[in-house]
Amino acid sequence: MASSQTFGSMSVRAIQAGLAAGEFSAAEVARGTFERIGAADARVHAFLETTEAAALEAAARVDAALAAGRDLSELGPLAGVPVGYKDNMNLLGTHTTCSSRMLESYVSPYTATCVARTLEAGALPVGKLNMDEFAFGSSTETSAFGPTRNPWDLDRVPGGSSGGSAAAVAAGLVPVTLGSDTGGSIRQPGSFCGIVAVKPTYGVVSRYGVVAFGSSLDQVGPFARTVEDAALTLNAISGRDELDCTSQEVAVDFTANLAEGVRGMRIGVVPAFMDAAGLTSEVRDKVAEAAAKLEELGAELVEVELPNAQAAMSAYYVLGPCEAFSNLARFDSVRYGYCDPGHKDLGGQYEASRANGFGPEARRRIMLGSYLLSAGVYDKYYYPAQQVRTLITQDYARAFEQIDCILAPVAPRTAFRFGEIADPTEMYLSDMFTISINIAGNGGMSMPIGLGAETGMPVGAQLVAPAFRDKNMLRVAAALEAVYGPAPVAPDFADGKAGE
Ligand code: GLN
Repeated sequence: MASSQTFGSMSVRAIQAGLAAGEFSAAEVARGTFERIGAADARVHAFLETTEAAALEAAARVDAALAAGRDLSELGPLAGVPVGYKDNMNLLGTHTTCSSRMLESYVSPYTATCVARTLEAGALPVGKLNMDEFAFGSSTETSAFGPTRNPWDLDRVPGGSSGGSAAAVAAGLVPVTLGSDTGGSIRQPGSFCGIVAVKPTYGVVSRYGVVAFGSSLDQVGPFARTVEDAALTLNAISGRDELDCTSQEVAVDFTANLAEGVRGMRIGVVPAFMDAAGLTSEVRDKVAEAAAKLEELGAELVEVELPNAQAAMSAYYVLGPCEAFSNLARFDSVRYGYCDPGHKDLGGQYEASRANGFGPEARRRIMLGSYLLSAGVYDKYYYPAQQVRTLITQDYARAFEQIDCILAPVAPRTAFRFGEIADPTEMYLSDMFTISINIAGNGGMSMPIGLGAETGMPVGAQLVAPAFRDKNMLRVAAALEAVYGPAPVAPDFADGKAGE
């Protein structure tokens, strides 16, 4: 029987096997999870809020159904499994702050579709996870409530913007969390924390109820320690939602191809990515090693060119801020958000509330977007950026005529130290290998492939799939998992340790 400390380091299947065999109840899973969060999260600071009452209620439903003789498999693919949510996802009755003073006192009046679907699948909702403010950033350092720490080295960042979601899984606090990815915010923290992190194709998961950053780029996806757990979670959250017109019908079992291996698959390698200036040798070496392993397993490596991908960063820092500017206009201190006290005129109230409610990076994005969308400037930047977007999308479509999946680095380096990257443009380069995939809309994921030779920190390999063929990358990921093993809990947090 598992000790109450270890539920967060078990796989979904292991938890469900224990529940089905009566080794422990769902209520014990919930209580054990909160005990573990209580013991270890003071050091990591992954959680902004925990939801004991809701988790115990969901657990009681699972336990009652099991006591009434129902089979666990009828209760949903996540029955009895603790799940945490990035704090830009609405869950009725919880704070949804986006790690911003602007939304510090905002309480969700409804539940996001992705969250609701985990609950319908039987998940135990454990709480809300720290992030970069409004998802702007790559380190969680922009959170108004203090950063999250990387469980592998508490002096280093967990990545971002979904840093809390990644760190909670890496520290063994919960087996599954959800994050969102606009330019790399699932994959890069997944890589920094050494866990499985999936950004599905745009449209696979509904965005309804997830606070929007760049609506044409945002996509929700899971963090887990095994590929199967990530695939099971995708099964639960994916598919058409009438409340998000960009969501698609997805009649796919994401676990279906995991055992097929890579023999006969054609895997693309992009020379411009592997030779990129700024890519550290320890990351390059690990990704090259992963490519060699896939070749040994019977995959064929094919060099592919993405001639316009080098323009992705420039296009993203036009399109992203423009969409963010427009989406964040709703936080006007009247309908939503922080209201600076003591102003007699509306203009003064708007100005002070937005100046004091948003942090520096959010203000930078808003100002940039406002400038880029102004008359005369729009034609010079926004319109060409959309043209670049089309070219990049065509590059990927053309590449995928010859290959089944791409293998690339996730981030140019492993997790950096707090304060190490102070220059915003240098921080933006964290996403040099992930951004073009959001621009094109394809699925991408980070798969842990061991530790870097210099820093000893986790390295992720990025797998990219043709649009709506996310199962291709999951299949390759499962083959890599068979070589490198499932993602471990960070050593200082393994076996129930709390990271002292
Ligand atoms: N780091 C990128 C940014 O700051 C991407 C963030 C994200 O994917 N939400 O915009």
